Amino acid sequence: MIMKPKGTYDVLGKEAVKLEKINQLIEYFCDFYNYEYIRTPLFESRELFHRSVGESSDIVTKETYDFKDRSDRELTLRPEGTAGVVRSFIENKLYGENLPRKFFYNGTMYRYERPGNGRNREFTQFGIEVLGSNDPAIDAEVISLPYRLFEELGFKDLTVKINNLGAKKDREKYREALVSYLKPHIHELCSDCQKRFETNPLRILDCKVDQDNDLLKNVPSILDYQSKESQDRFKKVLQYLTFLDIDYEVDDKIVRGLDYYDYTVFEIVCDKEVLGSANTIAAGGRYNGLVEDLGGPSIPCMGFASGLERVMLAMDDPIFSERRPLNCYILYVNEEEKMKAITLAQDLRISGVSVDYDTTGRSLKSQFKEADRNQAELLILLNSEDLSKGLITVKDNKTKEEHKIDENEIIDYIVSNA
Ligand code: ATP
Ligand code: MG
Repeated sequence: MIMKPKGTYDVLGKEAVKLEKINQLIEYFCDFYNYEYIRTPLFESRELFHRSVGESSDIVTKETYDFKDRSDRELTLRPEGTAGVVRSFIENKLYGENLPRKFFYNGTMYRYERPGNGRNREFTQFGIEVLGSNDPAIDAEVISLPYRLFEELGFKDLTVKINNLGAKKDREKYREALVSYLKPHIHELCSDCQKRFETNPLRILDCKVDQDNDLLKNVPSILDYQSKESQDRFKKVLQYLTFLDIDYEVDDKIVRGLDYYDYTVFEIVCDKEVLGSANTIAAGGRYNGLVEDLGGPSIPCMGFASGLERVMLAMDDPIFSERRPLNCYILYVNEEEKMKAITLAQDLRISGVSVDYDTTGRSLKSQFKEADRNQAELLILLNSEDLSKGLITVKDNKTKEEHKIDENEIIDYIVSNA
């Protein structure tokens, strides 16, 4: 038997219903907040991720799926969504048009990680990116959209953790302070952190292994190394969040795992046991330098991404795990009735009614059972005798009441009764 590759999974049954509901809600929310859908390729040139996500990030050092195509091009399956959106923004010269552009995406990402609860090798991220605004109101909007969406999905135990990384020059000052604080004790940290110390010491704060080490608990705070401009900006973001009634916690240890972040970074954490250490259900921040780093003009941006597998795992509201009942089930016996069933089903579906009928040669008795299994509200009972008089019998599957309806009025009747 052929099995699915390690770290991938099938979405079936109740989980599939949940995912469908989440996807519908994402589209609905993004529409209301005026975000437009964007789709970028599943694979991009390897260089794109090296230059954006960063050479020293976990993603680039150990998680990418890299391959060469048959013409020896170096390609990478996308591990995240921002790099592709920014590449597309620059390549299509969208910076010349009305800004900001507000995009949302929802698609598959690939990372070679150790699989576990809420950690997969193939996973789905929904995210938004705002390109062309440095307004702190956008920081607040990018945080509030997923927060409100999760609330709508029934989440109650959410915390927004937020930090301010400031401008490049602020981070450089902090980096020096951090290096001199850590230097005498660096051997006490894990081997990854010893490497990070050489390549990108800020990333040590994000280490999952050394999280509880006192050395890391007492590091200097990045918030003490911010310029006045950066501090004022951060205050404004927090003020807007308060206006929007979003509970936040300032956490000066949040640096995020990708190199391109500056100023505001945040995580939305869900305190559910099933998630274990994979309890960050959304994360993001500002990346005011990335468009320029990738060859475009200087354009300030902000975005976030959320792992839908983690959202599904943590979501337990049963209303989201039942399939919607079918409006109508059409029952028939002979070929003439079946032809009517096929055209009637099409007309009803076009009119916004959900319909199905048997395609496995079931007896009439088991067609009734099938209608019940699909929780059909109305049964359309086709029989040749009725049809020859231009009539169709409709039965309410709850009250068991039956009516003979004129064939020409059947669509209107079903639409108003379904
Ligand atoms: P973590 O610290 O949990 O590994 P990360 O810093 O790698 O997360 P990001 O790159 O910021 O995460 O991705 C944003 C979101 O995507 C995460 O908060 C999480 O919800 C989801 N995500 C990341 N990696 C995975 C994965 N391997 N499987 C499922 N979801 C993931
Ligand atoms: Mg990770």
